[in-house]
Amino acid sequence: MSSSQRRPRKRSDAQPSLASSIRTLPGVGEKREELLSGLGLKTVGDLLVYPPRRYIDRASFSSIAELRQGEIQSVIGKVSRSEIKPARGKRLFIVHIEDATSKMRGVWFNQPYLRSVFHQGDTFVFSGTVQIDRFGKTFVHPEYEPMGDDLLHTGRLVPVYSTRPGLGQKQLRTLVKSAVDTHLDDTGDYVPEAIRNKLGLIPLQVAISHLHFPPDASGANAARRRLAFDEVLLFQTLFALSRLEREGTGSRVRDVHDVVDRFSGDLPFELTGAQVEALGQITTDITDRYPMRRLLQGDVGCGKTVVAGLAAAVVCDTGGQVALMCPTEILAEQHYGTLRAFLAPFGFKTGILTGSMPADEMGRTREDLLGGTLGVVVGTHALIGEKTRFKDLELVIVDEEQRFGVLQRTRLVKKAPQSNLLVVSATPIPRTLALTAYGDLDVTTIGDMPPGRGTHTSHSVESTRRPEVLKEVAAMIRGGRQAFHVCPSLEQGEAGLIDVKTVKKEMQGLLGKDRRVEILTGRTERDRRIEIIEGFRANKIGLVVATTVVEVGMDIPAATILVVEQAERFGLSQLHQMRGRVARTVSDSLSYFIVSESASEKARARIAVLESTFDGFEIAESDLVFRGPGDLVGTRQHGVPDLKFTRLPDDTDLMLRAREEAFDRIRSGDTSPDWQMWIEAVTSITEGRTVIV
Ligand code: ADP
Ligand code: MG
Repeated sequence: MSSSQRRPRKRSDAQPSLASSIRTLPGVGEKREELLSGLGLKTVGDLLVYPPRRYIDRASFSSIAELRQGEIQSVIGKVSRSEIKPARGKRLFIVHIEDATSKMRGVWFNQPYLRSVFHQGDTFVFSGTVQIDRFGKTFVHPEYEPMGDDLLHTGRLVPVYSTRPGLGQKQLRTLVKSAVDTHLDDTGDYVPEAIRNKLGLIPLQVAISHLHFPPDASGANAARRRLAFDEVLLFQTLFALSRLEREGTGSRVRDVHDVVDRFSGDLPFELTGAQVEALGQITTDITDRYPMRRLLQGDVGCGKTVVAGLAAAVVCDTGGQVALMCPTEILAEQHYGTLRAFLAPFGFKTGILTGSMPADEMGRTREDLLGGTLGVVVGTHALIGEKTRFKDLELVIVDEEQRFGVLQRTRLVKKAPQSNLLVVSATPIPRTLALTAYGDLDVTTIGDMPPGRGTHTSHSVESTRRPEVLKEVAAMIRGGRQAFHVCPSLEQGEAGLIDVKTVKKEMQGLLGKDRRVEILTGRTERDRRIEIIEGFRANKIGLVVATTVVEVGMDIPAATILVVEQAERFGLSQLHQMRGRVARTVSDSLSYFIVSESASEKARARIAVLESTFDGFEIAESDLVFRGPGDLVGTRQHGVPDLKFTRLPDDTDLMLRAREEAFDRIRSGDTSPDWQMWIEAVTSITEGRTVIV
């Protein structure tokens, strides 16, 4: 870490009360604390910036005479009397209400305590859906609130939050209100005033207050945009800092003349033009005096891993060490096998570190890394991160990490600031998202496939035709072909889900003794897993029934058939990754996406896209359209940080402005107190502190 970026921290703990437990709010006991914690709400600060899912318009009032059937409406009415009546085994609480125009009723089941709420002659605001029948007009279980100056649940745009059973909207809203009332003054606005003024952003305190209790719809949007700006400014500041830091950090300058030729000469195929070009950019970065920060993206199967492997060889060649991080142990084991075989003839040693290794083996690998006898280590994130120390770590490769967040990456780079970083992703994304997810990286794109790939055909199959398809697949497997069969569930009995064990039985039944069927999941023990993969590679196993653990990176070229059960449960990019497993050679390949009868139109449309194209770039764009810009799960798939307020691509303008501000100020070395305070806040966040920005 270059110390030039760290200023003395004056205000990092300036918001202690925001970090105080949610328990400190009135009405929060142990049980409620647990419910709130399940929603990710642990501190008062969390609650203040908990975004409403939507708002209900209870802003305008009707007279009772005007009320229409079936719509959500609000009235102001006076209580004339209340009563409790038995009704179909329940107790019905009825309050009779009137205004100057007419009379109506409000009814609740089994809530006799309401008798002490509604006193004759008091005025209340009621909001809800109106039923009109032989009893006249009725609100069933309406929201209600005594008429006062400060209406919270009625008579306004009312926030609706994600919640869980046991914690009602009204309770949550009341809690938010009390957090806003007692803690709003504690929120310091860290975004420099000059920027706020320039972009016409409202002050933070107003934004937080209007986020929950907006004066009107445009007020709600202004609040959201302000909070969205803070969010994108945070990430763009991290990106700009990371750039600056890179430029202030030296890395070893090396001569890699001819090495690429030397190493690639040993491959069983010729590199494509795009691969050669990608490798050129990477080696230029590696030999440059600044550490590399690069994203290598390209469709599944285009040959990214090969490029990453060659980059590793280049680094080993001059005595540096390489860490290759993978999202799954299965993938780590595969890469270990390939790299070891590829690098050994050159005299470079490769090791592996995964959580399921015996402790003594792990210890030996760590020793060899520290001693410098190992050139390359392959492992899962956790293992390479923590206790592992290197003699001379010069290249970190993160393979297939579509979901690796910005903050994780920032922390990783801090551990080895001088190392070169290569992030490999199989989900190409549009530019706006790339700037949001990878704004600190240079981008290399491999735009074409190695020549001579067979054709791939994708079939969408109704579940009624499932038995037929399974028979067809079994016949092909008996004929010597190999397949992956992906199920959404690991365990029998998960509600409505097809699981691996059931499918294994079914398929083994169809295949008889001719062909072996094995199960592979994230829980399969290491030795067994290695045995299965080797068996599959050697075609001793005809079918691997698996969970999504095989989704990324697996390279078993002989497998050419994919079956996915309940395909509607998977995302588009995810399904595309899966079929990438079987379309890796000159042989033609096939996938069957079995769709449940209950699948939605939208899910069917997703699968129709798979039938129409095999182009990962097209798929990624459709995926975004299907998921919608606000879908966080969707954006997370693309490695975009968890944005609570920002909607992409709608807020692209905000993102670009934030990027410009952050990069300008950091490049020009802005020393204004406002900006320094902001930098401190950002640093605090990357160190895991609670700060509201
Ligand atoms: P990715 O990581 O992009 O999904 P891989 O690097 O695993 O792709 O390559 C996919 C498959 O194509 C592998 O079996 C690999 O050996 C093969 N391959 C890679 N580059 C080429 C090439 N230039 N020509 C032929 N086959 C290639
Ligand atoms: Mg790969």
